Amino acid sequence: MNYVLITFLILLLIKVCTELWLESLNTKHVKSHSGAVPDSFKEFIDKKTYDKSVAYTLAKTKFGVIESLYDNIILVLIILLGVLPFMFGMFECWIGISNWAQAVTLFLVGIIFSIPSIPLEWWEQFRLEEKFGFNKTNLKLWITDKVKGLIISLILGVPLIALLIFLVNLPNWWLWAFIIFFCFQLLMMIVYPQFIMPLFNKFEPLPEGELRTRLLDLSDRTGFKAKTILVMDGSKRSGHSNAFFTGFGKFRRIVLFDTLMEQLSTEELEAVLAHEIGHYKLGHIPKMLMISAVSMLIGFWVLAYLIDSPWFYEGFGFSPTSGVAPALILFSIMSGLISFWLTPFTNLWSRKHEYEADEFAKKAVNSPNPLIQSLRKLSEKNLSNLTPHPTYSSFYYSHPTLPEREAALKK
Ligand code: ZN
Repeated sequence: MNYVLITFLILLLIKVCTELWLESLNTKHVKSHSGAVPDSFKEFIDKKTYDKSVAYTLAKTKFGVIESLYDNIILVLIILLGVLPFMFGMFECWIGISNWAQAVTLFLVGIIFSIPSIPLEWWEQFRLEEKFGFNKTNLKLWITDKVKGLIISLILGVPLIALLIFLVNLPNWWLWAFIIFFCFQLLMMIVYPQFIMPLFNKFEPLPEGELRTRLLDLSDRTGFKAKTILVMDGSKRSGHSNAFFTGFGKFRRIVLFDTLMEQLSTEELEAVLAHEIGHYKLGHIPKMLMISAVSMLIGFWVLAYLIDSPWFYEGFGFSPTSGVAPALILFSIMSGLISFWLTPFTNLWSRKHEYEADEFAKKAVNSPNPLIQSLRKLSEKNLSNLTPHPTYSSFYYSHPTLPEREAALKK
């Protein structure tokens, strides 16, 4: 046992204990409110649905705890038993140590590591989601999705990693890597919704009619000027409903789930659309991109330091001549242990944006009520946890809770 491994184990232990503490805090809080529907929710949710939302929250929490323990035990075994140096050594014998060979090795190691979590993913979709009526997918579609995802990550991921490994030999490579990867991220913001998402879902323009006229009118009035509003067949896989905004500039698009269209009235959909337009008009996308750029730059800088530090990969059992690939995978494992602590800060930032977009929507439709109605319906239909512990929601929630959003909208 050396200092690197001990540091890794301590960081992992602190993270897992914090996760478990937050989950138990939240579970106790939800249970303590589960006896009767809290007064502020009585207006829109009946006892039966409320009970169901409590049961769903508790079932998901239990699943999350088991999943986290399972994943982390496997990770510790992989690290302590020296599985990584063994696997890299084996692949080196088979395919060599060229840039491409190292990229393929990383890809294959990634696939092998994702295998143990497949049974849990299956259970979550076909047992947990199924039990609460959200699962709409079938085994064939589920497997097809996985295979498609794998092929896409092969086509995009392997050349990108090979390029990164090539760059590492250049002076100040981390700066070049940052520029290239950031441009790639911008490109993906266009490519992903236009070319990759349609491989999984159908996107159809909202048909002519009153709803379309009203939504396009709103979009013109707010200066968004959408050419089209797309409807996605989210119901193909899940009963959960949503709306989202992607891309930027000329490539901006607003997508409504078909499940959302079924659940909300025209007026409510208008408010949801206004909220999404708010994100665009208030510059939330470039702001988020800035944060991502800064963290990417720091990430590459740290990676550059670690690649030049033999103690780092020697600590995990690699030889000092192991090449770049081991450093990359060790970095990704370690960065997860550090970035966990940034979650509450990025979520705080994200919740600030949600309040701003809500305020924008309220002004755009001249009333807080349609948005409040739609948020209530969404909470009810998605069986959202209506009573999260405040510490839990401020750590994990990217959106403010329903009472927080209502209070802000009524101001
Ligand atoms: Zn939003």
